[in-house]
Amino acid sequence: MAYRVTFIPGDGTGPEISEAVQRVLEATGVDFEWDFQDAGADVYEREGTPLPDRVIESIKERKLAIKGPITTPVGSGFRSVNVALRKELDLYACLRPCKAYEGVRTRFPETDIVLVRENHEDLYAGIEYELGDPRTEKLRQFIKETEGTELREDIGVSIKPISIHGTQRIVRAAFEYAKANGRRKVTLAHKANIMKHTDGLFLRVGREVAENEYPDVEFEDRIIDNLCNQLVTRPEEYDVVVLPNLYGDIVSDLGAGMIGGLGLAPGANIGDEYAVFEAVHGSAPKYKGQNKVNPMALMLSGVMLLRHIDEREAADRMEGAIAEVIREGKSVTYDMKPTRDDPTAVGTSEVATAIIEKMETVAV
Ligand code: NAD
Repeated sequence: MAYRVTFIPGDGTGPEISEAVQRVLEATGVDFEWDFQDAGADVYEREGTPLPDRVIESIKERKLAIKGPITTPVGSGFRSVNVALRKELDLYACLRPCKAYEGVRTRFPETDIVLVRENHEDLYAGIEYELGDPRTEKLRQFIKETEGTELREDIGVSIKPISIHGTQRIVRAAFEYAKANGRRKVTLAHKANIMKHTDGLFLRVGREVAENEYPDVEFEDRIIDNLCNQLVTRPEEYDVVVLPNLYGDIVSDLGAGMIGGLGLAPGANIGDEYAVFEAVHGSAPKYKGQNKVNPMALMLSGVMLLRHIDEREAADRMEGAIAEVIREGKSVTYDMKPTRDDPTAVGTSEVATAIIEKMETVAV
């Protein structure tokens, strides 16, 4: 029976990347029935919203989606479609594997980590008090009364909420991923020594989940600054790393840099009911329509989708073919060449063709 999956091609370079990814996914032999759904700036012009209900309904019905990047125009008035999707579908866990394949240009060839970032809470929750807003003054007075601390008048304030519920489910997501994918260790990142009631809670609750529910998987914690230092000195010591939202955001880009760049960094946003697979990178609009950018990040997100639906043989075959094309270094896009203007770089579509050819020969 065919897997019913919502496919959001996205905008900018999204449609050309998506076309390449669709071809490779179909070449695995796994049967997909796609429901193509447009969202983003063009849809906003036509339908008055960048994320029409039909897109959400399609994903709710199918439970699975793969998505190209979507531009968030600066000052357009509509908030990010990507953030809205995560909220609407309660996709609380952001999974970002950072694996350095043989042949990529990296200083960290041993890297093979999976970042699990909390998606809803922390300083990203969007609870902010603007400079000059009367509510900011009220908050300042409240802090003075309850804390005895007098904050300066010329402040803006962002609130950092971290809950037991949010922590329990993100830490469980990290352990479940570790178990399902044969990973050996989970590291929890925090700054509990300074932020005792938020990161401190994250650490305490994380430890409880680890001890009570996953005694068979190794668990450790690291202060976030120390983790950053160690990731670039001893990356091979890390495996699955679970982080609150803001640290997860920053360390994700560090991870992408460690494995050869954004063109190779896949991701997934997962909740209890739905999963949306998408690359870390954005729509790279300056390259739109040029058949130029690297489709491998979204392809590797497709590999994650295959593993999510337990099509492991197809996932291994597709990943193996991508790895082989990277190792050979011939049919790769400009970002993977020694110089950006290398004339031997191929286009988005040619990468897909090379991977499909490899899939027919690669042994898993
Ligand atoms: P970007 O990731 O689109 O591009 C930054 C640069 O990275 C590009 O100019 C290019 O040099 C390189 N790059 C990105 N993807 C690449 C690929 N696949 N192959 C080769 N090189 C690649 O980031 P940006 O310019 O900050 O954002 C552009 C738009 O995308 C913005 O509107 C932003 O809001 C949006 N965005 C969307 C998502 C998403 O859909 N999940 C994520 C991030 C940014």
